Amino acid sequence: MAKLTDPVTILRGVGPARAKQLAQLNIQTLGDLICHFPRGYEDRTQLVQIQDLQPDIPACFRAMVLSVPRTSHIRKGLDITRVQVGDTTARLNLTFFNQNFVSDNLLYGHEYIFYGAVSGDFIGYSMNTPVFESPDSPPLTTRRILPVYPLTAGLANAAMLRLIQQAMAICDPPAEILPAPILEQYQILPAAQTYRVIHAPGSLAEAEQAKRRMIFEEFFVFSAGLALLRAAQAGKKAVPYANLTLTPFTQALPFSLTGAQRRAIGEIAADFQKGVPMNRLVQGDVGSGKTMVAAAAAYLAGKNGDQTALMVPTEILAEQHYASISKLLVPLGIRVGLLTGAMRTGEKRLARENLASGQLDLVIGTHALLSQTTVFSNLGLVITDEQHRFGVAQRAALLGKGQDPHLLVMSATPIPRTLALLMYGDLEVSILDELPPGRQSVQSFLVSEFMRPRINAFIRKQAALGHQCYIVCPAVADNPEQNLKAAETWADTLRRTVFPELRISLLHGQMKGAEKEAVMASFARGESDILVATTVIEVGVDVPNATVMVIEDADRFGLSQLHQLRGRVGRGKEQSYCVLFTRNRNPQTLSRLKALCKTADGFRIAEEDLKIRGPGDFFGARQSGLPAFRVANLSSDLELLQQAQQAASSWIDCHGAEMTPQAQALRSRIKALFDRAQGTMN
Ligand code: ADP
Ligand code: MG
Repeated sequence: MAKLTDPVTILRGVGPARAKQLAQLNIQTLGDLICHFPRGYEDRTQLVQIQDLQPDIPACFRAMVLSVPRTSHIRKGLDITRVQVGDTTARLNLTFFNQNFVSDNLLYGHEYIFYGAVSGDFIGYSMNTPVFESPDSPPLTTRRILPVYPLTAGLANAAMLRLIQQAMAICDPPAEILPAPILEQYQILPAAQTYRVIHAPGSLAEAEQAKRRMIFEEFFVFSAGLALLRAAQAGKKAVPYANLTLTPFTQALPFSLTGAQRRAIGEIAADFQKGVPMNRLVQGDVGSGKTMVAAAAAYLAGKNGDQTALMVPTEILAEQHYASISKLLVPLGIRVGLLTGAMRTGEKRLARENLASGQLDLVIGTHALLSQTTVFSNLGLVITDEQHRFGVAQRAALLGKGQDPHLLVMSATPIPRTLALLMYGDLEVSILDELPPGRQSVQSFLVSEFMRPRINAFIRKQAALGHQCYIVCPAVADNPEQNLKAAETWADTLRRTVFPELRISLLHGQMKGAEKEAVMASFARGESDILVATTVIEVGVDVPNATVMVIEDADRFGLSQLHQLRGRVGRGKEQSYCVLFTRNRNPQTLSRLKALCKTADGFRIAEEDLKIRGPGDFFGARQSGLPAFRVANLSSDLELLQQAQQAASSWIDCHGAEMTPQAQALRSRIKALFDRAQGTMN
């Protein structure tokens, strides 16, 4: 027997060229091959008679070769082979293009099983390029449910099928990781059977069973991972905070907290008294004021002698939080520091020394916080902002730098309930369902190029009123293949020809950290009128004086992403506007964008987005912090998700500490899944 980890090159017919094709599909080992699942099935089990063939509907039939196949050379690169076949009901002419081997394989007077679709014209029916095999050979491409695999150039489905069958014949499929009682309780197909069925189902219903098992397994592994995190958390203790007075904090605020903010802060304060580490998600739409909730939590931690780490996904955001939070908290006696990758080596070293020696109460930073050289003297509270940008593993890494610290995660992206359940199944939730008073909803418009002059005039008018404008482009630089608005070129055009009188700055992800910060900071100070940018400004950035958000080629962005971008304006007292430019004419795309213009409800937008794009792609695949599920679909497999979650958490509760080979296999699968989800930070 071969092993799952053996390379595909041990298979017959896999030389360097084949191996390269397989590598294109991320298939290196026999295990990868066995886990290469079909994207669908074709039912080729039914044999029909030729007279019953329906135009354009492929089917199997058995027929005898009634003429010697003849190949004609039509022109360079085009050979046509013709042959007549028939059964007791009718005759049929078959045509093959550039398949000269057919003449050798279809023998006059012999019978074969064919699979193909007839096409009709006034002369009669004929069939182009059917597949065929001898009735004496084992069914491979006819007389069966045929798996249809994801393929790559040069690798046909039949070849993939043969390779997988070969691998299955010499190698056992992955071992069962689901406990037997759970298989029984939830009527789940065992692993060994599942892999066999997936690649060679006896019926479509059987294939469905196998698929259900794989979905259940994925959800189970993920949920078990979360349950383990929670179990690890459960045994932990935290010294209850004694000092929970918030009055100095609220008095220092330039505004009064919204009811929702007060509620969330209250829930956090209650968690701080419980004697176990807090595990809380604060979820609120863009602009709902999550930063102040984080600041309040950090204030309380600081007043009780704990250090706080606030981790954010971008340098711009770190810089901005640092500016606003230190302005608020430093006068209250909280020592605040900044730590980002873009800082000078000396500055970073100083920040780290101050953290390690307890000279800082709060550090705001990017993934630089995760580095081994970042050490805390007494990390008591970990806050992650824009949590959907981080993986579960990164959150865990930061937590590991303290002695069972409290955890507060904040997410601006409204997450559909199904997804929230999955991503944050291990957290309590506070919802900020109220915007600060005086906010007006952002007026949104979908426009075509035709409106360009009017929009330009509008931007000029807003600038004359002292307001600022973002213009977001889908690309950084011109790319002739894509024909998208590129920030660099567009900024240049605007400066030279459209708004020569205005101050225009440029911000994109390829710029150095310090440069980005400088541009953003200067825009925030009102030193430029227009910021031409890519989606680097999507997350969190707060410039209340900006009232116009123009998005170029808006159809290139996801709906949730557009909603996030739109959330960059409407943050002050002034009426704000969002203008979506598109050259797209697809009615479906246009109606989605129009719908976005009509609603400000982030949750509804997120649900819609999930429907359109599927979960893998939800936040832009790289951003979700979610593992890429291979078979499961979060919008349609909800019931199975709930079953798997229930199964996983009760299993971990009772057997989480087991060290049987099966339990270890499950653990290593969990690790692989969480590792795959890691490295999602930009
Ligand atoms: P979020 O992170 O939830 O998108 P922010 O924390 O960036 O939102 O807050 C958005 C804006 O609202 C900021 O300018 C902030 O100062 C302001 N803000 C927050 N809370 C209040 C409040 N209670 N009243 C008025 N303005 C507020
Ligand atoms: Mg925010």
